[in-house]
Amino acid sequence: MDSAYSRVTAGPPSVSDEWVSGFLETHYGLAAAEVLPLPGESERNFRVRCTTGEQVVVRLSWSSEQERATQQSAILAALTRHHPDVAVARPVPTLQGDLGLACDIDDAPCYARVIDWLDGEPLSSVEWRSNELLRDLGEQAGLLAVALAEAGRRAPEPEPHYWDLRRAAAILDDAVHREGGSADGRLYARALRRTESALDALPSLPQALVHHDLHVNNLLVRTEQHRTRVSGIIDLGDAIVTARVCDLAILLASLCRASPDPIHESAAVIATYCKHVPLNEDEVDLLLPLMIARTATVAATGSRLAAEAAHGDPRHRSPLLLASLTQLMSARGEFVREVFRAAAGLPLTSASKRALDWLGEHSPEPMLQHTAVVDGSSASRVFDDVNAGDLAGIRSALQQAIEAIAPAIAVGRHGEPRLLESRARGTGAAEQPTRAYGVRVHAAPGTTLSAPYPGVIEAIGSEVVALRHEPEPGVRFWTVVTGATLTDTVARIGTRSDDQVDVGQPWATTIGEGPATVALALHHPSGDLPPRFVRASELPLWERISPDPSALLGIERWVGRRARIIDSRAAHLPRTHPTYFEQPIDMVRAHECTFIDEEGNRYLDALNNVTLVGHCHPRLTDAARRQLGRLNTNSRFVYDALTDYIERLTATLPEHLQVAYMLNSGSEANDLALTMARHVTGRDDIVVIADAYHGYTRTVADVSPARYKHYGKPEHTHEVPAPDRYRGEFRYGDAEAGVKYARQVIETFDRLIAEGRPPAAFIYEPLLAGGGQVVLPPGYLATIQRAADERGILTIADEVQVGFGRLGEAFWGFQTQGPEVTPDFVTMGKAMGNGFPVAAMVTTRGHSERFDERGRFFATYGGNPASCAVALEMLKIVEDEQLQQNALVVGEYFREQLRELAKRHELIGDVRGQGFYSGIEFVLDRDALTPASEETLKICDRLKDEGVLVYPTGAWWNILKLKPPLTFSRDDVDRFCRTLDLVLRRGW
Ligand code: PMP
Repeated sequence: MDSAYSRVTAGPPSVSDEWVSGFLETHYGLAAAEVLPLPGESERNFRVRCTTGEQVVVRLSWSSEQERATQQSAILAALTRHHPDVAVARPVPTLQGDLGLACDIDDAPCYARVIDWLDGEPLSSVEWRSNELLRDLGEQAGLLAVALAEAGRRAPEPEPHYWDLRRAAAILDDAVHREGGSADGRLYARALRRTESALDALPSLPQALVHHDLHVNNLLVRTEQHRTRVSGIIDLGDAIVTARVCDLAILLASLCRASPDPIHESAAVIATYCKHVPLNEDEVDLLLPLMIARTATVAATGSRLAAEAAHGDPRHRSPLLLASLTQLMSARGEFVREVFRAAAGLPLTSASKRALDWLGEHSPEPMLQHTAVVDGSSASRVFDDVNAGDLAGIRSALQQAIEAIAPAIAVGRHGEPRLLESRARGTGAAEQPTRAYGVRVHAAPGTTLSAPYPGVIEAIGSEVVALRHEPEPGVRFWTVVTGATLTDTVARIGTRSDDQVDVGQPWATTIGEGPATVALALHHPSGDLPPRFVRASELPLWERISPDPSALLGIERWVGRRARIIDSRAAHLPRTHPTYFEQPIDMVRAHECTFIDEEGNRYLDALNNVTLVGHCHPRLTDAARRQLGRLNTNSRFVYDALTDYIERLTATLPEHLQVAYMLNSGSEANDLALTMARHVTGRDDIVVIADAYHGYTRTVADVSPARYKHYGKPEHTHEVPAPDRYRGEFRYGDAEAGVKYARQVIETFDRLIAEGRPPAAFIYEPLLAGGGQVVLPPGYLATIQRAADERGILTIADEVQVGFGRLGEAFWGFQTQGPEVTPDFVTMGKAMGNGFPVAAMVTTRGHSERFDERGRFFATYGGNPASCAVALEMLKIVEDEQLQQNALVVGEYFREQLRELAKRHELIGDVRGQGFYSGIEFVLDRDALTPASEETLKICDRLKDEGVLVYPTGAWWNILKLKPPLTFSRDDVDRFCRTLDLVLRRGW
């Protein structure tokens, strides 16, 4: 032990920078420009930048280490020659072609060698590890393992050393004696007991040459465009031939230190590692004990070093080590074993499989008669009359539903995501445990449960009782009830372990106010019962040790609808019907600026321009309910809902716009405006702005560049460039940009007139959505309006996206460009009914009268009482809650905060917008403005994972469109910016 230990404690040789430069010049022909010291345990290391730009590492050790050093060089040479995909350093030969050479330092014999410098930061410096990085770690470790195993067959076998895991028992034994009965000493003793048999098994496992020090400081990573990936693996100084699984155990043990979610992170690494190295069941089952053994030996050695005050390597003294050891020791072993097996693609342990097979073939006798399922899931109708933000309301609605089931007993399903548990969505350790584990029995205290299978009583805890079932040799499992005690009769007879409870015999009695939970366990339930609520991603893993108990109560488990919905969409919706996100979300309810999905995840809604006054506004729901309950018909009858609405709507518009056509969609409104403009002018041609979208009907698609780019620009449509001051011809600094861009439109008018085809209309959005959230420059619309009026060209303001106060400065978007802007037609939809289908086109009496020549106007649903009642209430809410003002003030605050972020994140090229209609444009290069399209989609996905919803727009999909409900608060803005900052800082 001591000679091996001395290698850890003795310092390596010391030399000056000049010595290093001279040495490199003489033996390698390299001229050093800069020499920098690097840390090292048994070798003195220098990073050297050569005058050629090349970088190398010079490594010096006492000659006693020569054999190990030459060995290392030989391994590196073999790896770099035969496995170029493994990111290790290439040994640099001397001028004589050797991989190292003997030299004297202060008259002591030493050994020196040179290897390539690998670029990157140690993995330990990474603040957060994405799933992608974890997968890459597994991949790189797997590639290394394969390459080392092969290299090991060629190279001579290195000597074992101090850190050799096969010595772990001896190191721990020593620590137990040294630390005596202290808390640490007891922890080491427990670790020794827990790992002894795993350590004994090492020689019988598949053997190979391994790195044996694959920890977070020996793995290098590089971050490019927010992606962090492994760039190098260093320090093969501890390579030995031993059980091949040691490398993975050492890597996982190191990752687990300071990990918020060690088991999840480990599983992600194991999954890709095993694609290269298909570990067997014994190896995977020993991973956790070996991780414990490694952590314990490093901790024990660290405290020994600290006690001897001989060595100052901070890695060894980390207080995290003992915490990590405690955390690993407290992990539920059976659970971890099954999780690791699942990750490695291996089957369940054979005992679990036998029990599961038996359960699959033998139906239980239900433990209770007269039960009925109470649906407490996020999608349950039980909560339809409750505001989803009101937890007390949700609780009381559930209680009422439970009571309404009486005299039957209400049972809650296993695996159900409970609305009561729903929380803001987060990934990894932040993923919320929303899924109920086990079946909940909402029975009065004193209700008896019968045995589902014959079994033997096991006393577990004060409120936990279990029946052990051993129906045939080799099959064993437990029925467990939490929140219950034994029935008096059973308690009297059941203390002897061989007393059998017959199937159907009452054995447990519920106690207390809360529901009892019935679960199944494949291992003794004192140690390995899942928590009451688990994360959705972990539910199938927990079921490997605690299978679905639904059959014990004669009910079905909870099954999500998402998969069925997605299949059905594939069968019945057109393939071109889009969904947000690659993994679409099954939304089930919402309130204010919050969405809730089927899993109970809550999301901040920053993308919903339709829901102007927030989701499920109680005044709107009430208005719709009342009107639908009273009267809903068509506008060939007369009723006040329609006129009340139009009076209030036209009051928000300039005086010349008094006649409203009530319709059902934005497309219809634009279609009618275009048809009318063509009729009134007797012209056909239309001028549009690049990349615009005005709807899907033939007429509007033909003036929507975003649509007709798929089938060809119609002859009568003429595009003008977007007045984009970020990318366009005239930029932000140009005070005349508005007039200059307007001139381009006027030139198009005049060219068309000169060609003998004067345009009927110019259609525009007052802030360009499809064009990429482009704010119109000052003077743009007024200049165009004047020219259009002079030329008899009509103007159509498409307010479908931005009307109703969204832009803050004015109620209608076109008004933000000044009072001279007087459109002939204003079209509106989306927010008009806050999601209830209602749209309109408003124009002058003069244009309307000309159009009367075309005969009667009537749209069956247009202006129906229900949609008018909702639309009217919507207008009142915007006014009562001063939402336009909120859009103005908080919208500005939003952009200020985003501009602060732009100072820290190069990727943010531009932040722009008005009110609550903003865009964040991501670029790879702030000068070349290269669109960061891939990154933008990734950011949206990561934001979604962190519970914030937003989506890209623009010709390159590199702009985040921000158009939240107008009730969005400063707190919401702060949450959004915090999350975006986090996503950009962490990367992926
Ligand atoms: N105009 C604009 C500016 C739009 O954004 C949209 C819809 N995205 C429409 C018109 C068409 O509206 P709808 O989908 O209600 O037909």
